[in-house]
Amino acid sequence: MPRTHASLPRLYIEPDLGQGASIALGKEQSLYLAAVLRKTVGDEVVLFNGRDGAWLSRLTSDSKKSVTLETIEQVATQTPVSDLWYGFAPLKTERLDYVIQKATEMGAGTIAPVLTKFTQVSRLKHEKLVANAIEAAEQCEVLSVPVVAAEITLAALLAGWTTTQGPRKLIVADESATSASPVDAIAALRGHPIGLLIGPEGGFSDEERAQLRAQPFVVPVSLGPRILRADTAAVAALAVIQAIIGDWR
Ligand code: SAM
Repeated sequence: MPRTHASLPRLYIEPDLGQGASIALGKEQSLYLAAVLRKTVGDEVVLFNGRDGAWLSRLTSDSKKSVTLETIEQVATQTPVSDLWYGFAPLKTERLDYVIQKATEMGAGTIAPVLTKFTQVSRLKHEKLVANAIEAAEQCEVLSVPVVAAEITLAALLAGWTTTQGPRKLIVADESATSASPVDAIAALRGHPIGLLIGPEGGFSDEERAQLRAQPFVVPVSLGPRILRADTAAVAALAVIQAIIGDWR
């Protein structure tokens, strides 16, 4: 997207986008644009919906209850949705928000909460996770919002993996692995669909680790000699994956 539009607010919407489309925003987004950002008729924003690329659009009404806009021109063509699957053991409150936002910024296409033995959180507000993913997508100029899957237990995930994920390999950040660089193990997966799994604050249990290592689709990796916090490990692992075999190349 031209950097000239980088300073404009970006909003994720559901309706189709195209030349001359008229868009009516819901109450929440209308309030955000008209009251928080004080946008008025004629002001420009960038809209995207995950299907039609990004569209420079202009406000045609600025009522706080229902802002309407019309599209002016397409400023970015739709990019393919990321195939990177990211599973994580949910963390508490703001660190959970952080992990969802960072996974979105780092290019995850699917974000899947995985319940493990030491996971501290079991009830998740799915709509809040989705809202965090949308907010991150709006801020970091991605053109599609990752799918936030329903939570699943580790046992169910592993049992159903080959049925639901086919040939996808699952990179598991294993803090008990001998400290080593993950570069070679990840580079060997070039061309494969891949997933990444990060454990909870309390780590994987010994039984879980044995279960994981027994799976032919699992590739355990070390993230170096220090024990990283789960949210740090998520960003570190996603960065290494994107840099070696992902979309940073
Ligand atoms: N059991 C320790 C604890 O309770 O502090 C470590 C858990 S660590 C905070 C959470 C997750 O981050 C781990 O399950 C693992 O997925 C990942 N992780 C952290 N440091 C790592 C490392 N050096 N190598 C591989 N994975 C790591």
